[in-house]
Amino acid sequence: MMPLREITIPPRDRRRFTRLVRDVRACEACDAMTHSHVLGADNGRLDAPVLFVAEAVGRRGGAVTGVPLTRDESGRRFSAFLALAGISRADVFVTNAVLCNPTDARGRNRPPTASECARCRPFLARTLELVRAPLLVTLGRVALEATRAVEPHEAELARDVATPVSWRGRTLVPLYHPGRQSTLHRPQAAQEGDWRALGALVPATAAAGDQDRNPVQRR
Ligand code: SF4
Repeated sequence: MMPLREITIPPRDRRRFTRLVRDVRACEACDAMTHSHVLGADNGRLDAPVLFVAEAVGRRGGAVTGVPLTRDESGRRFSAFLALAGISRADVFVTNAVLCNPTDARGRNRPPTASECARCRPFLARTLELVRAPLLVTLGRVALEATRAVEPHEAELARDVATPVSWRGRTLVPLYHPGRQSTLHRPQAAQEGDWRALGALVPATAAAGDQDRNPVQRR
């Protein structure tokens, strides 16, 4: 990936992020969740050129480390896909449609419900406002629907995978979730091609985003 220019984050945005993290950590709106509240400085740089939105915190991953898509199998596969795309973890911000760990009666991971996604949506919307990465990548159907609920778009995962879509002044790229289960819907080799295609998009969108964000620096 091309070297990326450092962007200065206005102090006001840092304060807004601190308030967002505080509000998330105080939230207990979902009963059937392990309240891991994975949002903070370890998610990535606020000025990252690439923002990933995944599904939910994993019980053996983010719920343990406090960092989305780390430690568990999905995290390891995400790291491998990033390497394939030539994207450094230092250049991304990673979050989830829901910021806690949805578990079933036996304590296993389960997909978040529509109502859980709706309850967490204001936090996602606030994150999208603060992390103005020019390239937004959704990982899986839940993440794609979560962005659509913030503001409508026409992207469909199976039809538009790895296809750039213009959304809210940025480029949205739908990809499958890095979890191995997604290979039931899209084979591994095809997903590897998707990530290579994503890597090819990064320099152009990051450069465009730098220009877009200059006014923000001057505020
Ligand atoms: S998932 Fe989101 S809305 Fe639900 S308890 Fe956690 S932070 Fe609150």
